Amino acid sequence: MLSEDGSTATERLLALPKAELHVHLDGSLRPSTMAELAQERGTELPSYEARSLAAHMLVSDAHSLEEYLERFVLTLSVMQDAEALERIAFEVAEDHAREHVRYLEVRFSPALCTAGGLTTDEVMDHVLAGLRRAESAYQIKTRVIVCALRTLDPAVSVEMAELAVAYRDRGVVAFDLAGAEAGSPAREHLEAFRLVESAGLPLTIHAGEGFGAPSIKQAVNDAHATRIGHGTRLWEDVELETQVRERGIPLEVCLTSNVQTGVAASYAMHPVRRYFDEGIPIALCTDNRLMSGVTLTKEYEHARDHLGFTWKELKTVARTGFEVAYLPEDEKREMLAGVDEETGRPE
Ligand SMILES: [Zn+2]
Repeated sequence: MLSEDGSTATERLLALPKAELHVHLDGSLRPSTMAELAQERGTELPSYEARSLAAHMLVSDAHSLEEYLERFVLTLSVMQDAEALERIAFEVAEDHAREHVRYLEVRFSPALCTAGGLTTDEVMDHVLAGLRRAESAYQIKTRVIVCALRTLDPAVSVEMAELAVAYRDRGVVAFDLAGAEAGSPAREHLEAFRLVESAGLPLTIHAGEGFGAPSIKQAVNDAHATRIGHGTRLWEDVELETQVRERGIPLEVCLTSNVQTGVAASYAMHPVRRYFDEGIPIALCTDNRLMSGVTLTKEYEHARDHLGFTWKELKTVARTGFEVAYLPEDEKREMLAGVDEETGRPE
């Protein structure tokens, strides 16, 4: 399929300036890097050959979010020293830049990278150094979202909240709650949420993925999340859906990840089409490039091929990614002006 400028539909999606707002650092390593780091460090992996390691890490048979999350033990085993963290951060930004992601919010929990003796401050510094190196090599702006984990002690969430606040002028733009949702409600971490909120740092929460609409309700009403990670099961509560739409709370939608964990039966059955048509702000994201075996461009293709998103609609989705970014208004306006110049102003 050729467009009016002679490029294929896929080339057009690749060239479209995009924002990635929901991608986990520890879920987006290059298989070759993971194998190399493990070999250098004597870390045990199921394979040291990039292609078979990629196949092992690809979650094609998860029956739940919990099974999906098991793969992170392996990636985190090579993310415990300065050199590895700097390299992984650089490469994740480089991979995004190569598919014309102009703005990247990458998330991770520094609390999971201290087994090798680094402090959480050192972990942050090395990741930020890798991102800065990529910024100077490519046309990409990068920021970090600090994650707390639902399954860890709420005291760790408070520590992560303090870290996020301490780094707010050094690259951290928001706070997140991730991890297994069922049986680990967001309200257990309210102290951490209040801490970031009082410091003026926004909050996004993984919700409506491993658990249903009540989890989204808690994220929005109790925790005061201003974006929702996934939000896939929002349709289960029509009243809440209306509230999310009226308040313009964006959903960070990760199609492939949702199909893999079974929260969506297939790409074609994914409710993002309904949410977009209703006017809820939608940002397409990858979640985990390694475990999901995707790129952001591929996720746009899935929306086009299985959910009937037109080129014009995908341009709107891409623009929304910049509009709902956790950036100060002036920086956001500047990015949007550049995007509009490249893609043509939205009609
Ligand atoms: Zn996620």
